[in-house]
Amino acid sequence: MDTQKKDIKAHSLDELKHVLKTWHEPSYRTNQIYHWLYAHSVTDFNSMKNLSVSLRNQLSQHFFISQLKSISHQCSSEGPLSTQKFLFELHDGKTIESVLIPSQSEIPSKPRYTVCVSTQVGCPLSCSFCATGNMGFSRNLSIGEIVDQVAFIQNWLSENYDERVTNVVFMGMGEPLLNIDPCLEAIRIFSNPDYRFKISERRITLSTIGLIPGIRTLLSKNVNFKLAVSLHSANELLRNQLIPASKDYPLEKLKQVLKEFNAINRHPVTLEYVLLKGINDQAKDAQALKRFTKGLRCKINLIDFNTVEGTNYRKTSEPSKHQFIRFLIDQNLKVTARKSRGQSQNAACGQLATLNSRSHRIGPKLSLSI
Ligand code: SF4
Repeated sequence: MDTQKKDIKAHSLDELKHVLKTWHEPSYRTNQIYHWLYAHSVTDFNSMKNLSVSLRNQLSQHFFISQLKSISHQCSSEGPLSTQKFLFELHDGKTIESVLIPSQSEIPSKPRYTVCVSTQVGCPLSCSFCATGNMGFSRNLSIGEIVDQVAFIQNWLSENYDERVTNVVFMGMGEPLLNIDPCLEAIRIFSNPDYRFKISERRITLSTIGLIPGIRTLLSKNVNFKLAVSLHSANELLRNQLIPASKDYPLEKLKQVLKEFNAINRHPVTLEYVLLKGINDQAKDAQALKRFTKGLRCKINLIDFNTVEGTNYRKTSEPSKHQFIRFLIDQNLKVTARKSRGQSQNAACGQLATLNSRSHRIGPKLSLSI
């Protein structure tokens, strides 16, 4: 590959419009190119038949069209179509993982197919419970690299099960709000009815550890998709231990910005809370959580901990978990307690890790749950 060429799918629609303007091409040409990329998933410029040959040549001279290469694919043993973990190689040889999580929606006849996408190769935030915490950060993913995780899995799902991806969660490797522009452009592509995905924003969830500047950007854009925050403790000191980056974003300020988010977004904020044995699963922790939720439109998603090599954390016992849930329900809080999916092949929360290369050994936000 010519290293001077750039990946066209790393460019937003506006950036591409700017490039084409310098070539004296009308802006509708960019819409046509985007349509070829995200409605038809073409892999070469010659397939863009409604562009002139000279424009196709010019595009080929300056750009290439990146593609994900599937390296391996594992399924768990949890059912007929069970959780599937996909390992992809990017155009520069780095690797990422994505997970397909089949489930049933509230309407029994409607299956739900959720893809958990990665947004970074590695992660710079060293959450103590996450495999990523020890493994460093390599780079952000481009728009196309985020979108193509869903595109690949949609093809696989359609070929093998005649089904479509229905939901997307930004809960894989990386912190989406540290790569916010490509994530927002990817969401626009997923939800655009002119492209192939047609996934409504209400079926898209972005999960953050609570980076306030990033949440403020979402506020300024009046986003319609759902927001999840990995809380994991409503005790400031403990939260700082679990999520070191949270030291810059105190709980009081986080709560304030979430209230503002409540005002512009109709979906309640999901507070993700992984239960860690003897760490954050005591009565005092449930009380702190109750206090944090006061005045917030939110629901709490309690998650079982999946063992992560290199940490001493353990899963909360079932009786402790039930006590925790009972307390929250008695306070009239909305609580879901879901088992993480895909444990049999390390595709569950905190377990994604591309173990084939040291620099790529990363893990996701622990709060994957749907
Ligand atoms: S939990 Fe999320 S933000 Fe924290 S280190 Fe893991 S991937 Fe990064």
